[in-house]
This record gives sequence, C-alpha cells and structure tokens, in this order.
Amino acid sequence: MVVRDELLARAVDECRGLIARRFPGDAERGAAAVLLDDGEVLTGSSPDFGNAGASLCHEVEPCCAAFRLNRKIVASVCLHRAEDGRHLVLSPCGICRERLADHGPDVLVAVPGPSDPTELRWVSLREALPHYWLAGAFPDEAPDWR
Ligand SMILES: [Zn+2]
Repeated sequence: MVVRDELLARAVDECRGLIARRFPGDAERGAAAVLLDDGEVLTGSSPDFGNAGASLCHEVEPCCAAFRLNRKIVASVCLHRAEDGRHLVLSPCGICRERLADHGPDVLVAVPGPSDPTELRWVSLREALPHYWLAGAFPDEAPDWR
C-alpha cells in the first residue's frame, strides 16, 4: 500500500493538534497518532501517573483503538513538545515496535533526522525493526514479514 503524503501530514498535524488542545499551558507534553488503512487518523496520549511504573506510551491508546475498530495501522507518529515549543520526533520504543509489528513490516514510523530531533522522517517498520524475532524464529506466525 502506498501511503499518500497528505495523509501522513494529516497524522502529524493531528498529533500536534492534540498536544496543543489537551496541554495548552504545559510544555513538555507528548502525543501520538496513527493513520489507518481507511485514511482515518486516531490520536492518543498517556497521563503522567503518580506511579511512574504505570506509565504507558502515547501510542497505546491509538493502537488499542485501531484494534477496537478492526482497522490496520499504516503509519504511526509520536511527538514530544519540548519546553522551547519545538516538537521532537520520538521513534517508537521497542515495545511499540512490537505492537506495530502486528500490522506488518510496511507500517511507516516517524523517526528523527540524524542531526535534528525535530526533523521528521518516515521509515518502514522493517527498517526500524530489522531483526523481528517472530519473523526469524516463527515465520508462519508472521506471514506479512516474509
Ligand atoms: Zn512505546
């Protein structure tokens, strides 16, 4: 599936929009957005729980919503608004890569540029997760990864 640039841009805009609307006076906040195969964008964010061990990634809410809607995720972006107002691109953590892997190796994930954390680049999950354990050890359980 070829993901159109304007849909990717909309996912980024909606991620930034959630940060702006939900946290108008707070710096240092983040959110995530996923683009679904039908063009819908789902956003999410995670509270700062009193017990940091209860923390969740911002991607969890939109990933679970995609499951609820029975839709495939085609792209994912996570941004953190720094104190100076810049939006830093957070590449998906290891466990979020695992969550996204269920949607196949062609999922696009936002990663920061090599020398500018505000530069947003799209790479495939296969690039971000080159040695996906399930595909290597149990390829029949990850048929999209062949
Ligand atoms: Zn994560």
